[in-house]
Amino acid sequence: MDAAERPDPARTLESMAREALAALERKSLRRHLTDTGRTRPNAAERGGRELISFSCNDYLNLSHHPEVCRAAIRAIETYGAGAGASRLVTGNHPLYRALETRLARMKGTEAAIVFGSGYLANTGIIPALVGKDDLIVMDELAHACMHAGARLSHAKVTVFRHNDIDACRDVLAARRARYGHCLLLTERVFSMDGDVAPAAGLAELAREFDAWLMTDDAHGFGVLDAGDPSHAKDVPLQMGTLSKAVGAYGGYLCAAEPVIELIRNRARSFIYTTGLPPSVVASADAALAIMEQDPDLIARPLAKARLFTSLLNLPSAQSSIVPVILGEEERALAASDALREQGFLVIAIRPPTVPEGTARLRFTFTAGHEDVDIRRLADGVRPFIHRA
Ligand SMILES: *Cc1c(COP(=O)(O)O)cnc(C)c1O
Repeated sequence: MDAAERPDPARTLESMAREALAALERKSLRRHLTDTGRTRPNAAERGGRELISFSCNDYLNLSHHPEVCRAAIRAIETYGAGAGASRLVTGNHPLYRALETRLARMKGTEAAIVFGSGYLANTGIIPALVGKDDLIVMDELAHACMHAGARLSHAKVTVFRHNDIDACRDVLAARRARYGHCLLLTERVFSMDGDVAPAAGLAELAREFDAWLMTDDAHGFGVLDAGDPSHAKDVPLQMGTLSKAVGAYGGYLCAAEPVIELIRNRARSFIYTTGLPPSVVASADAALAIMEQDPDLIARPLAKARLFTSLLNLPSAQSSIVPVILGEEERALAASDALREQGFLVIAIRPPTVPEGTARLRFTFTAGHEDVDIRRLADGVRPFIHRA
């Protein structure tokens, strides 16, 4: 080919990007970053306007708690702004030990390991435990990072109908015997639906079929409890994040010591990445200390969510997350826009985050929401529900 006829890769790259974006735009699936100033709990400043946020996962408002913030400042003053290396090199600053010891105690396990994020945790843990001769059985609505971890493991992956114990049993009965090990994956509280997994029933199936049950507790920890050591007997692999109710950042796994030691040696998203900044680890530990000491704080997000569901005659909230499913992307976006006009930030959630045809408003409630605001919010949402 003549140089003159050769396509210019800078051009083909850009035109690929433009066409892909135009396709998303046509389907109302294009996403945009919006500057959002969270300068106070439950406040979100956008475009010069302060909105009351019902879209943050900071369920206990701990990201702004003075003790949590002070812990970060002290850590920076002592250990600097960054960890400097992977934890297995020189990045394992002493704050990690306090955090992991506390997490293991709260969850009732021998040990814990902290990753850079929940996403990194799931993409590291799953391939560290199972491989190509093994089976993964997972809830169809499990978070994207569990699906990513499952794919990275090269194990056979099968999903079962959301929260359906019988469907899970059918999958295990049909397939389990053909594989070496089996990992059973679910979320404790589903991030886009707010419903709770049938953990006891799944634990029973796990025992019957020799499967290792792992729950992702991203949205339960700090809302349903501050860790409950009695769960350890049913759920040997308790994964979660420090970025939601804990208000900081990082992911974790709580499990038996040999399991955690294997993860330290095998999880690539633990080994080949820099340790968390000392400030983040210190904040998480300070926030967990507050969670341990304040059961009244932990009870509040669910109470707020239940006020909202009772005002709208919706099924009673099971967690701090309440979805209102509106179907088409455009309807969810229009409802979100209307609520913004009334001073509320409620993000519309669209496919592929949720299944096709189930675009929704996802409301999250925090300890600090005022009842009067929840009542006004319910008034704003009511017309959309009645048209659904
Ligand atoms: C948010 C979330 C994660 C990811 O956690 P990060 O710490 O934000 O990376 C994992 N699993 C579930 C269920 C989540 O909701």
